[in-house]
Amino acid sequence: MMNAAMFYGPGDVRFERVPVPVPRPGEVLVKVRAALTCGTDIKTYQRGHPAIIKKIPSTFGHEFSGDVVEVGEGVSGFKPGMRVACCNSAPCQKCFYCKNGQQNLCENLTVLNGAYAEYIVVPRPLVDFNLLEIPDHLSYEEAAMSEPLGTAVHAMRLTPIKQGDTVAVIGSGPLGLMITRLAYLRGARVILLGKGEERLQKGREFGASEVVDVSRYESIDDQVKRAISLTDAGRGADVVIEAVGQPEAWQEALLLVRKGGAVTFFGGCKSGTTMIVDTVQLHYSELTLLGVFHQTPGDFRRSLELLSTRLVDGRELVKETVPLSRLLDAFRWVKELKAIKYAIDPTLM
Ligand SMILES: [Zn+2]
Ligand SMILES: [Zn+2]
Repeated sequence: MMNAAMFYGPGDVRFERVPVPVPRPGEVLVKVRAALTCGTDIKTYQRGHPAIIKKIPSTFGHEFSGDVVEVGEGVSGFKPGMRVACCNSAPCQKCFYCKNGQQNLCENLTVLNGAYAEYIVVPRPLVDFNLLEIPDHLSYEEAAMSEPLGTAVHAMRLTPIKQGDTVAVIGSGPLGLMITRLAYLRGARVILLGKGEERLQKGREFGASEVVDVSRYESIDDQVKRAISLTDAGRGADVVIEAVGQPEAWQEALLLVRKGGAVTFFGGCKSGTTMIVDTVQLHYSELTLLGVFHQTPGDFRRSLELLSTRLVDGRELVKETVPLSRLLDAFRWVKELKAIKYAIDPTLM
């Protein structure tokens, strides 16, 4: 038997002893050593997640790393004792999008959930394409960051940033901070709009040369005015990257971008929401508006590489490791902006 956080419904997570899963042919059983808190899991806890959790009770959690303990029949390349990081999903490599090099848009994505448990079975497509050995010097907490960072790597791969560009990043959550770091590494001057003392400080350490604490401004217009005043000749940002996932932030991005600039919409909003784009602005200002989603196996590999070299220092993003029984506290602390992320150790109850 093993420890697991079981999702029974919105606001109802129970800590139980459940049977250790058994790997079938092609699968790998991993002992979870670090599972990170993530905004998506917090949302799942609060209101459920029809796409991720189809039947209840269900395990959940999707950013993790650990040790291989058992491999199913026919698995080569992995053996017990190997330290691994795993993406939260894998593409089929067979559909139109996969063959078109857009595996992030795969029509038959295999999604993995259940990292807030002592053991997790990694399904075959993930074993084949998105399970990676991690170097000795990299901690489990850092390695688990490879999944979220992969989505930031994907966004940055598609975002047209040139050296010396001014990039406004909206949002100081874990992804906003990772994007800040990646934009800095691309040679951009980053203006970070966000809130939370510690997060903004991290943003500076990650390379933001200017920080706008949005909690100090009464209206979005005032925030925008402040941020624009920090751009070259007050023209607006060359590139804006939205990493909040609220329609207001999407809308705000359009106010921050200069003529001829680009906006990347990274944060997913609730379904059914819309934004208004002024056709005159889009047309006469020649804006490039770009939606980005998820990651490809290539992005995931690059992400682990960035963490391994510590060009992105994952140690800076995890506050501390807490036992599984403190999972809901950790969710609350993140919501209260007390930390960017917590690592959960499921062996500790
Ligand atoms: Zn996540
Ligand atoms: Zn596919």
